[in-house]
Amino acid sequence: MATTTDFDTIAAISTPPGEGGIAIVRISGDEAFEVISKIFKGKDLKKVPSHTINYGHIIDPDNGSDVDEVMVSVMKAPKTYTKEDVIEINCHGGIIATNKILQLVLSYGARMAEPGEFTKRAFLNGRIDLSQSEAVMDLIEAKTDRSMKAALNQLDGNLSSLIRKLRQDILDVLANVEVNIDYPEYDDAEVVTTKLLSNKAKELKVRIQKLLDTSKQGRVLRDGLATSIVGRPNVGKSSLLNHLLHQDKAIVTDVPGTTRDVLEEYVNVRGVPLKLVDTAGIRETDDKVEKIGVDRSRKAIQSSDLVLLVLNASEHLTDEDKELIKLTQDTKKIIILNKTDLDQKLTTDEIKQIVGSDESIITTSAIKDDGTEKLEELIAHLFFNEGIESSQNDVMVTNARHISLLHQAKDALSSVLDGIDSGMPVDLVQMDMRRCWDLLGEITGDSYNGELLDQLFSQFCLGK
Ligand code: GDP
Ligand code: ZN
Repeated sequence: MATTTDFDTIAAISTPPGEGGIAIVRISGDEAFEVISKIFKGKDLKKVPSHTINYGHIIDPDNGSDVDEVMVSVMKAPKTYTKEDVIEINCHGGIIATNKILQLVLSYGARMAEPGEFTKRAFLNGRIDLSQSEAVMDLIEAKTDRSMKAALNQLDGNLSSLIRKLRQDILDVLANVEVNIDYPEYDDAEVVTTKLLSNKAKELKVRIQKLLDTSKQGRVLRDGLATSIVGRPNVGKSSLLNHLLHQDKAIVTDVPGTTRDVLEEYVNVRGVPLKLVDTAGIRETDDKVEKIGVDRSRKAIQSSDLVLLVLNASEHLTDEDKELIKLTQDTKKIIILNKTDLDQKLTTDEIKQIVGSDESIITTSAIKDDGTEKLEELIAHLFFNEGIESSQNDVMVTNARHISLLHQAKDALSSVLDGIDSGMPVDLVQMDMRRCWDLLGEITGDSYNGELLDQLFSQFCLGK
């Protein structure tokens, strides 16, 4: 990252790359008004009221030529995204004109913003904390309404305020310990202090664990539930997949960071984002004789949170079927007996005998669109049965960095308890408590280092 002073004036195109209805060039910093006034023809933007949108033209001062007809949003500090003066030029969205405007902005005093730098400023200027900044990024990448809600919730600062409460409680107990250490007037000061620390450590551990408990669902909401559809050739995998996809909610996302031309496919099943694993293998089977061999299935199964195992109900079980059942033994799965419109040779009972339970076995006819609703219901049920509906407005931890810090914070509390158990002196024990406080502070950014910031914000897209 550049080592420029943090508060120069920055600019970037804030809309996604490519042609669009409109494009926005955003400028933030002390010089924002200087820059725009040099290239804008229209009202004097320094004199218009803050938070207004103003019609005019961008001109190239070099030759006086008209570059684009624009609407310029004027937002004076501090009530802006970055807490600095912010100018947003809404232009017509052609790549050439937009780039030209950015070039002008850059040659008249702004510096090209780095990825995430606007949001980083919002953080450094104290408008939002670190977990809120991360929520901004999650929001951009949200794949369903529910994952968006989780991100919005975090952006509201709900996670932050929970963490701050935890930290405040730790501070209180540390202050208490401090007093007892400094004024050991009573013989039992050490005993009282130890008891206090130990009770608090136990209580905090429970609270942190509660947060961690939300992270499994949180992660899935964020990243999708890795799901594969496996089964012998011709049992109906593609047909079933199409039913899931044809709920017209199919989303295809180009995930940055994955190999180019590898698309990750998501399908939103009643609010559960399924991230489909290895659908290429399913789609190509019709023409090519390329079968999805057991090896390939094994790989798909290993990287899945959920497996949809498809069997042909109009045929007897084959060795390959049995092999697949065995492979999915320890995976969360739904067994689908497809082709129930034909004469049945395979029954739910027979499968139940093998897997020991029938709660995740369903029958479908992909061709008659029979049972596919039930399939969706079952997927949603498997995922939401822990009562996500009721916890929707509660805090959910979705971010890997937060999860890891919470684990470490919990470990620090375990060290407090271990220390007490093994008779360690209080002033040593309290250091672990203090470490817990620091770790929690890294979630909100109350304690942070520059490296962490650089790493975090560089994952943002440009212009955000
Ligand atoms: P895949 O190889 O497992 O992906 O299977 P496909 O979905 O490509 O289906 C193979 C063949 O079975 C196609 O001709 C489908 O039309 C047919 N098929 C799929 N589902 C059903 C079903 O429920 N009933 C009947 N009768 N045929 C089906
Ligand atoms: Zn097929």
